[in-house]
Amino acid sequence: MLEYIGLGLALIHFGTPLSYYVYMKKKYFGKPWDMKREEGFKPKITVIVPTYNEAKLIEKKLDDIYAQEYPRDRLEVILIDSASSDGTLEIAEKWKEEHGEINLKIIGEDSRRGKAHSLNEALKHSTGEIVVITDADSFWGTRDSLGRAAEWFSDPSVGAVSCLKDPEGSEAPSIELGYRGYYNVLRVAESKAYSTPIFHGELASFRKDLLEEVGEFPVDIGSDDSHTATKIAAMGYRAIIPEDVLCKELVPKRGYNSWRIRRAQHLVQHFMKAMKLKVKAPKNFDRILKVEEYLHLMNPWILLGGAVLLSASAIMGSLISLIFLALGIALLMYKPYRTWISMQLYLVIAAIKNLWSRE
Ligand code: GDP
Ligand code: MN
Repeated sequence: MLEYIGLGLALIHFGTPLSYYVYMKKKYFGKPWDMKREEGFKPKITVIVPTYNEAKLIEKKLDDIYAQEYPRDRLEVILIDSASSDGTLEIAEKWKEEHGEINLKIIGEDSRRGKAHSLNEALKHSTGEIVVITDADSFWGTRDSLGRAAEWFSDPSVGAVSCLKDPEGSEAPSIELGYRGYYNVLRVAESKAYSTPIFHGELASFRKDLLEEVGEFPVDIGSDDSHTATKIAAMGYRAIIPEDVLCKELVPKRGYNSWRIRRAQHLVQHFMKAMKLKVKAPKNFDRILKVEEYLHLMNPWILLGGAVLLSASAIMGSLISLIFLALGIALLMYKPYRTWISMQLYLVIAAIKNLWSRE
């Protein structure tokens, strides 16, 4: 009996995301966008770069923004630093002296109160119609990322735009890539269907008036970009990740596991908070949000439950359980499966860790 419940749970765990993926890919991924994009649309943009101890990367980051093909008179950059102790601010000041042509404002806060807090502070100084948030440890890679993201705002239904991620650096990228295929297809398909509830800190852009309407960036959770995008989508605007807006993420060489857990913690915080959203989201977004909430909050535990039941019944002598457990372990040779399983573990650990540490 136990073994059948265990197998059932495993079936639900793997079957749900797989069916969702197949459905979304077939129904939406290849389909044309149902919105108009005006080429050459160049709204006034404010790029905000929050920094805390980014001395190693900050020059490269500013160079990357500088290399964007976007009219300088339509672009404002705000770097907001929270009392870094490694000289980030000084390096940025020096960079600014050497690059007079770009409109760069540098704000130095006198204490650290977190990324979202800084973003909200920077917002007060921004004059752009579109606000683009970008982490210091990320790069756009292509010189038109900013311009392409901006063009999507020519459609008035678009409230937020993020990028498709390519991992870069470290020994981990092959694992990351295996996961990205599944993940990126879903982001684009959800965007075409309506909106995606997952945004990326590499490039997260928003209409400024909507940011004000949703009450700025949430300071109580880690996933400020995804959560803000979700609130905007719930209001009836599109929050999208198009295939042509690309960005690169630096995957840390050291502390890879704790980095993944922290990321997972942020996602769990985001979806927990999204479940309590008061606004009634449009039906097509509500469906996407419910599936993603399920996938991030429930589904990992179903795998755990299944594994526990199968192990218990295997110990009690069930041959079927033993065979399926062995199969589940043998499949770990296969990279996409291994990546999937590790993500589930990260999500379970993240949910537990969120009980006492929300950083
Ligand atoms: P992760 O990518 O989610 O793991 O978070 P990071 O630690 O890479 O932080 C994302 C961005 O926010 C980076 O550019 C950091 O330098 C910046 N950041 C993190 N904490 C703070 C803070 O307290 N204040 C400011 N201004 N920026 C911060
Ligand atoms: Mn980062």
